[in-house]
Amino acid sequence: MQIHSKLPTVGTTIFTVMSSLAVEHKAVNLGQGFPDFMMSEELIALVNAAMKNGFNQYAHMNGLPLLRERLAEKIFKLYETKINADTQITITPGGTYAIYTALTTVLQPGDEVIVFEPAYDSYIPNIEINGAKPILISLQYPDYSIPWDEVKSKVNERTRMIMINTPHNPTGAVLSENDIEQLRSIVANTNILILSDEVYEHLIFDAIKHQSILCYPDLLERSFVCFSFGKTYHCTGWKLGYCISSPELMKEFRKVHQFNCFSCDTPKQIALTEFLKNEEAYLSLGSFMQTKRDFFRELMKATPFRLIPSHGSYFECYSYAGFSDENDFDLAVRLTKENAVTAIPLSSFYKNKTDNKVLRFCFAKKEETLEKAVTKLIHIK
Ligand code: PMP
Ligand code: GLN
Repeated sequence: MQIHSKLPTVGTTIFTVMSSLAVEHKAVNLGQGFPDFMMSEELIALVNAAMKNGFNQYAHMNGLPLLRERLAEKIFKLYETKINADTQITITPGGTYAIYTALTTVLQPGDEVIVFEPAYDSYIPNIEINGAKPILISLQYPDYSIPWDEVKSKVNERTRMIMINTPHNPTGAVLSENDIEQLRSIVANTNILILSDEVYEHLIFDAIKHQSILCYPDLLERSFVCFSFGKTYHCTGWKLGYCISSPELMKEFRKVHQFNCFSCDTPKQIALTEFLKNEEAYLSLGSFMQTKRDFFRELMKATPFRLIPSHGSYFECYSYAGFSDENDFDLAVRLTKENAVTAIPLSSFYKNKTDNKVLRFCFAKKEETLEKAVTKLIHIK
């Protein structure tokens, strides 16, 4: 049987590779991004109640109408933008699916998509599987800011999309108002679309305001904005999220979505509709996670790792250039096998083979987990 791979250069995602290695070596897993603490008992009870009350059949293909209404209310409160729940929101099985669907909806073979590296690992394969071409631009080490002059120089008539991600995975960098201005000036009077990955919208620290594309109606007109309930409610295994766009773009998005998953988990949508009334559950998330970040930062000072400061997501990056010159993947494997701590090598988020000697650690963990991990890192050489 001859198979022509659609992704000939792609292997298994680093998250699966490192999590499997962590299990094999019984390592504390600060690699793949997921909390190790319990999600809300109230939300679990709401799902149970929905199932017992008989909400176990297909939901509307665009998502439960009431859930979309609630999201529109939330968006208005947070970002002061009116979203039409009927025509602009689609509930998806996770943020990753929303991103894939958006790209598949609009990309044609030969289109160019500007992607900033390091990039969340699904972006580039999602572009390539659609026959489009990723145009790679490296974020500037060590603050991981966007080199806007380079972006301007790479835009041409084939540029179909620019992908942004704030707060950023893997670096924790966040976009500023100035970044949005730069983006606006580049896309003005063009047909360039924007994919804005905002799954960490609430995980932003140090009193910084999240620059959502939803705040800017002129940009939203040409954007797909993607979110994840898994990240917001500590239930990454639920794989539930949503996409927001203009009515015109959303109409096309739904044409693809309806023949892929069609609709999402009904009892969880019922439960989330109720739980969204609890504003505190998402408004408190930033300070809750900042406390964890600061706790982890403090502990890490006792190790030879050097912090690369950031303001968002549930990851922090650390340089090990001061104590080792081995490549970052080898160090991540060695840490797992010899020190029983797992992190993610940053080179995995680059297609252009960049290795700045940096590892990403996930701090969305119980304090005891973070303590246990750092204790094992203190004497690393
Ligand atoms: N984008 C980024 C940057 C992420 O870190 C994640 C988390 N996995 C996602 C999208 C997708 O989240 P989900 O688990 O809802 O697919
Ligand atoms: N978003 C998570 C991370 O970056 C995990 C995503 C995944 O496992 N696909 O670690």
